[in-house]
Amino acid sequence: MEFYKRNQTRKISVGGVVIGGGTPIVVQSMTNTNTKDWKTTVKQIKRLEEVGCEIVRVSLPDMESAYNVSKIKKNIKIPLAADVHFDYTIALEAIKQGVDKLRINPGNIGSKDKIEILVKEAKKAHIPIRIGVNAGSLKEVRKFPDNASRAKVLVNAAMDRVKILEKHDFFDIVVSLKASNIDTTVQAYKIFASKRNYPLHLGITESGSIFNGAIKSSAGLGIMLYDRIGDTVRVSLTADPVEEVKVAYSLLQSLELRSSGIEIISCPTCSRTQVDLIKIVSDMEKRAATIKDLRKLSKPIKIAMMGCVVNGPGEAKDADFGIAGGKDAGILFKNGEIIGKVKPGNWVPKLVSMIKDRLSNNSED
Ligand code: SF4
Repeated sequence: MEFYKRNQTRKISVGGVVIGGGTPIVVQSMTNTNTKDWKTTVKQIKRLEEVGCEIVRVSLPDMESAYNVSKIKKNIKIPLAADVHFDYTIALEAIKQGVDKLRINPGNIGSKDKIEILVKEAKKAHIPIRIGVNAGSLKEVRKFPDNASRAKVLVNAAMDRVKILEKHDFFDIVVSLKASNIDTTVQAYKIFASKRNYPLHLGITESGSIFNGAIKSSAGLGIMLYDRIGDTVRVSLTADPVEEVKVAYSLLQSLELRSSGIEIISCPTCSRTQVDLIKIVSDMEKRAATIKDLRKLSKPIKIAMMGCVVNGPGEAKDADFGIAGGKDAGILFKNGEIIGKVKPGNWVPKLVSMIKDRLSNNSED
């Protein structure tokens, strides 16, 4: 599926999920529940699992949250990463509780000796550490007005910590260099990628709401992914984290790096449109996200949903299934051939049943 060869980075395992080394880019997200309330946190993680999240991170702002790591882990299927700031003893407790990966922030985790204690424990537990640099927590960044200098500050902060880990023969390292400015972020990742081959966790931090954040993240991550940089992604949105996972798959699918299982081709609508296509396509997306096993397909099922027959047959020819709107009923296509008619209220159920048939037959029929 990949239309270009990715940079060869070191392969590391996070609770059995492999990041790096040219393996498929891993989709991550982060809970926004209170980790002290482990049951609500588990509920959110289960919703993230349903939409294909492959590693989930929880924030551990206090010891009480760290004590919940093992309870959360027991109740979820995907690997659990812990986000720790300021207090390295919380990270030590998370390791004791069986966390699968640690994220520490060089801007606030403290002195070299504290990091050294953490490294030793992570090594014993065989868990990787992400050096997660964030421009917002590095005072030095603000001393420089230009993006190039800021990018260098991010890289230097990461390299300082990377060297401490390496000194202890610890190489299960993931690095992120996030800023809310795309140019700074891209420059930082490019510089780091030229220095070390540790897998890179990509993200544009504090990117905003679903709409603006998805666009900003796609612009920033798209530049790097197309440039063969990146092994795992987290799209940060001010929204339900489930949306982060959906946006990540959509972005990766548009670059042919991952498949979300379905690709919907739909027209922008115009005065010829004879059905409420905007609502129908939105309903279809929601239903598709809940179809089990869809993401297991290496190639997405292509669905054309068109407002009228002008472009419908043309687009449908290239699609697995398609419907083009007509006055009272849409024309149904399969592999480019007309096979029947469907009333507007039945578009989504009909397409869903065709997708499920395809999945159960697992053939091109
Ligand atoms: S497919 Fe038909 S309804 Fe949709 S934009 Fe084109 S002409 Fe308009």
